[in-house]
Amino acid sequence: MSEVQWFCRNAEEWDAMAERLKLIPCPHCKVVGTLNRHGCLYGYDENNRKQKTVRARRVFCSNRNARPGCGRTLSVWAPTKSDGSA
Ligand SMILES: [Zn+2]
Repeated sequence: MSEVQWFCRNAEEWDAMAERLKLIPCPHCKVVGTLNRHGCLYGYDENNRKQKTVRARRVFCSNRNARPGCGRTLSVWAPTKSDGSA
């Protein structure tokens, strides 16, 4: 499964991106106006394995309701403070 991955630095950046989704071309089909928020991917915090954290947000290119999208998804990854790679 090939999936495009985007990155954001924090929740504020994701919020800004989410608000502009309708203005951003789909990376798969290049159509503008079809991207929708599609939930989150969860993972476990490296330092606290009982704590679930949001690892990435999912974005869906809508092909429903006569939308011209491609129906594919992409992930927007947000670094967590505990993963040490930031
Ligand atoms: Zn698309």
